[in-house]
Amino acid sequence: MISSYRDIEKKWQKKWAENGINNAERDDRPKFMIIFAYPGVTGYLHVGHMRGYTYVDAIGRYKRMTGYNVLFPVGTHATGNGAISLSEKIKNKDEGIIDYLIRNGCPEEKLKDLTDPMSVVNFFNEVYVNDYWKRFGFLADWRRFTCTLYPDYAKFIEWQFHKLMDAGLLIQKPYFAPACPSCGPVAVDASETDLSKGGNAETQEYTLLKFRCGDQFLIAATLRPETVYGQVCFWVNPEVEYVKLRKGNEVWIVSPQAAKKLEYQKDGLTEVGRIAGRDMVGWMCEAPMVHRKIPVFPAGFCDPDVGTGLVTSVPSDAPDDWVALEMIKKDPLIGAQYSLSQELIDSVVPISIISIDGYGEFPAKDIIDRMGITASGDPKLLDAKKQVYKDGYHAGRMKEICGEFAGMRVEEAKDKMKELMIETGEADVFYDLTEEVVCRCGKRVFIKRIDDQWFIDYANKDLTEVTSEHCKTMDINPSEYYSNIHTVLNWFRERACVRLGNWLGTRFPFDERWIIEAISDSTLYPIYYIVSIYANSGQIRPDQMTEQFFDYVYLGKGDPSSVHESTGIEKVLVERIRNDVEYWYPLDMNVGGKEHMTVHFPAFLFNHTAILPKHMWPKGIMVNWYVTGKKSKISKSKGGAQPIPGAVEKYSVDGMRLYYAHVASPFADVEWDEDTVLSYRQRIERIMGFVEELSSITGRGDVVPIDRWLLSRFNTHIGNVRSAMEKYDLRQLASTAYFEMFNDLKWYSRRGGNNSGVIMQALRLWIMTMMPITPHAAEEMWSLCGFEGMVSEAQLPETDHTKRSASAEYGEDLVRDVMSDIAQIIKVTGMQPKRIILYTASAWKVDVVKKAVELLAEGELDIPALTKRCMASEELRKRGKAVSDLAKKVASDYMRLSVDKVAPIIELDETAHLADAAAFMSSEIGYDIEVLSSDVNGLYDPHGKAKSAVPGRPAIYIE
Ligand SMILES: [Zn+2]
Repeated sequence: MISSYRDIEKKWQKKWAENGINNAERDDRPKFMIIFAYPGVTGYLHVGHMRGYTYVDAIGRYKRMTGYNVLFPVGTHATGNGAISLSEKIKNKDEGIIDYLIRNGCPEEKLKDLTDPMSVVNFFNEVYVNDYWKRFGFLADWRRFTCTLYPDYAKFIEWQFHKLMDAGLLIQKPYFAPACPSCGPVAVDASETDLSKGGNAETQEYTLLKFRCGDQFLIAATLRPETVYGQVCFWVNPEVEYVKLRKGNEVWIVSPQAAKKLEYQKDGLTEVGRIAGRDMVGWMCEAPMVHRKIPVFPAGFCDPDVGTGLVTSVPSDAPDDWVALEMIKKDPLIGAQYSLSQELIDSVVPISIISIDGYGEFPAKDIIDRMGITASGDPKLLDAKKQVYKDGYHAGRMKEICGEFAGMRVEEAKDKMKELMIETGEADVFYDLTEEVVCRCGKRVFIKRIDDQWFIDYANKDLTEVTSEHCKTMDINPSEYYSNIHTVLNWFRERACVRLGNWLGTRFPFDERWIIEAISDSTLYPIYYIVSIYANSGQIRPDQMTEQFFDYVYLGKGDPSSVHESTGIEKVLVERIRNDVEYWYPLDMNVGGKEHMTVHFPAFLFNHTAILPKHMWPKGIMVNWYVTGKKSKISKSKGGAQPIPGAVEKYSVDGMRLYYAHVASPFADVEWDEDTVLSYRQRIERIMGFVEELSSITGRGDVVPIDRWLLSRFNTHIGNVRSAMEKYDLRQLASTAYFEMFNDLKWYSRRGGNNSGVIMQALRLWIMTMMPITPHAAEEMWSLCGFEGMVSEAQLPETDHTKRSASAEYGEDLVRDVMSDIAQIIKVTGMQPKRIILYTASAWKVDVVKKAVELLAEGELDIPALTKRCMASEELRKRGKAVSDLAKKVASDYMRLSVDKVAPIIELDETAHLADAAAFMSSEIGYDIEVLSSDVNGLYDPHGKAKSAVPGRPAIYIE
């Protein structure tokens, strides 16, 4: 039957498209709008990306099947300079890039067209839509496709920024941003789109401390301004030639590297001279805040590329300082070399300034001793420094010696002391990257000050509160993220929303020099999919998409007539779009990878709550984890992953879809493993073969117990699937459809089930439950069975409770249990049985269980209650101790179970059921099995076995 998966996939994808079942139009059904966070256009995607996308299609398909009108639109995000740098490289015939494109299936003749950024974007848009999403059988509404670089999308973003401005959420203030001297601003992030090195670097704020020496200042950069009370000396690297900078009427001394960095952040700096580090050793300088004269000592650890290359020394709390001071004190040669008097050296003693639980007077000394550090340059010093800093910051308090800051927590004192010193002119601020960052062009990246940077004020208190409150009403998965999102929102600060430089994106409507950056134009966009369809079809032009137009269709402000007058858009179309918005919005579910948790999702929420009315705020978020390579993350830019087109040939689309749905919880990373993926393809093949076999069965007899069992089981499964999918639990859906239902049909056929009417009912339900995850195979099987229409359009029936029978389901469990018990006994004893007898429980024992069920239903089952109730029956009372023994056992076995679990045991006619199954069990086990009721007179029971039979657990006798 399975000629070729590719043919099956093509056939059904074509049929879905012909019937337009993916197109979403407003109607009177309830609606469900779902998206995945659109991907950035930075190159080819890999098998890991398809995981979350597949969840969206499968959830959408399930929703369709259960009565919803589903809108699943897609788009791409191309803002930034990724496409620019890619097109530049293609233009320059960069071998690495050309090879990468060809290897991923880009036709060679296409390359010459990819030399401008927009053609690169359009090229990848087609790859994403055709080679990934359509190839995977997604029922997305392609007519709504949008990209952040489309002119109509830009009009939407302009409107969004007008609304943010109206809400008072656009603010301007100085900003320190990474920039390349020739390319302008660059993004420093792990994707390294703009960079050739240093994507993990962070921007760190240093406090510049000014140490007066006559008419000039030695400048030290520190991350710990709260330690100034502990300053006892000052470090200079004798091997470095420092620079003198004129700043206003002051002269600053810093390393040459720091001078260069400072130029990008401070105005009016001019170099006025140089001075060798060794020439400053022995100077006395005045420390800020404490106004003490401290000596300048030599230290090799002063790195001219870190901070200013000059360091203030606080040995009490800085391990480096402690070690270096010890060395000078112990080695007289150092002092002699720089003509430092022993008296001066001896006068320098650490000052205890911070008390931290678990540390003594000098935390730096404690940690050095604990870690066994003895010399300067020990690599463990870095960890020691971090540890003391962390412990001090969170648990430290300023000691008495710290003047007005005494008693304050370090966390608090830090900012207060910094602010005071800046106010009095003794300190300044400086930003630096935590590691070397190099632009794609090869130049070193610096932190540059931008005076009039625009921000979106996500730190706004009211906005944060309202958003956080709304999140409580949302369906956010996994639950850890639901609990954590409030912290994420509170932590979110103002975010720079525009950039200067050579970027692709929407121009900032309030100042054309700026381009709106990538995170800020990708937050409110789900609502744009409702309008994009009209822009794509040409019914509205970008120039007609004015603020007035969007105000009406999104916010209901104004009226259609005046929108028509000012834009020329037909009034009925304006009304139609407004109705579409009211119908489709809010967004029901936004699915995105875990990298979205800290930036995209919070910004998405904030923009909705800031701009739209409350009834349009998002209803759900689902985060999916990654597919990883063997022992490493699969990365889009760095390769290492299987390209999608090759993978679908090998594993089939449905094989991969089933793999994503079933291999793990969405909230755990999985390691890509070929054999595992292949095993899912094989399972689908087995299922398809089995369905073909079942559909050819023609039995037409009466409905017998095994038929009732099958229909009951399948209706139970449908109920379970429905409740699992309330929580979007695709994994449970997959377990039920591809494993449990499969096993049930296998059992049915083993038990001789052959009623074609029943089989067809079961197949209908089975194929429907497989449709969301493996739609191509499902269509193929649906058509093979001769069912009408397409399964992608079928409606899953509600559970038919009239077909459910707990006792029928229980009866088959009993047969299976008994068979496995017998097999176990034979195996353990190594017997060759001549005779196997199953004794079922006597009627009086069933009566005891009945009374237990009654008590369970009344919520009062325990040993005394059951004994009492049994003794109330004359029939039972006369059996005396046998009854009270059984009552004890039954009560303790069933006490914690629900009525549903226990009732089937007494509803089933156990003797008749097992007698019916005896021939089957005999043939399966390979030995004859007889079933006897303990109530029959003249029982053949040579070893008194029948006595131990209880309802639900027949006694097994083997001889
Ligand atoms: Zn550059």
